[in-house]
Amino acid sequence: MKIKSGLVSLLAAVSLLSKPCCIIDAGHGGDDGGAVAPDGTAESGLNLSVCLKLDALMGLYGADAALTRSSEALDYPPDAQTIKARKNADQKRRAELIASKENAVLISVHQNTYGDAGPAGAQVLYNKYPGSSELASCAYRYLGMLEGQKVRASAEISDNIFLMRNAECPAILVECGFLSNAEDLSRLENDEHRTKIAVALCAAYIDYIKGPEDTNG
Ligand SMILES: [Zn+2]
Repeated sequence: MKIKSGLVSLLAAVSLLSKPCCIIDAGHGGDDGGAVAPDGTAESGLNLSVCLKLDALMGLYGADAALTRSSEALDYPPDAQTIKARKNADQKRRAELIASKENAVLISVHQNTYGDAGPAGAQVLYNKYPGSSELASCAYRYLGMLEGQKVRASAEISDNIFLMRNAECPAILVECGFLSNAEDLSRLENDEHRTKIAVALCAAYIDYIKGPEDTNG
């Protein structure tokens, strides 16, 4: 009996040690609004809205999560004087938060834009780290379940996105839609639609950390 309860505590301790932490990254913020829609809506606020909803949902599921920012305003180090220096310091701070978690999984939320109004739909980009493409597949599948949601094929992200390049953990960057497309924009400006995106990303994360279904029952 004693051995059994000891084993249970040990298993509980091990599962606690290896519990993943979802880093929820609302792209841009502070001095950097990111992409801007024709009506003046900046992506930073939409990103933050999706991420705050996602963080709340993670709490409901009992999943560990940490936001890289929880407001539109950002604190910058006093020695960062230029916009570039402030942005670099902010990106470094986010990378350090990711690195500080033993078992991090990064979900970075952004909005897309293009030179003409044609391109539309969400897209999930993933880094080279093992597990990233599997997480992207989960996100692709759940985003595709949202009514009327177009989802473009997932792809490996280029090396020029600092946070994705530096994240040594499974990491996806979700472009929720195109601010340059009128239909995408009106959906993204709808609070209910942003909740649905957060639900899809939460479901994707839960599926991902559960791993492939045990087919042996
Ligand atoms: Zn962005």
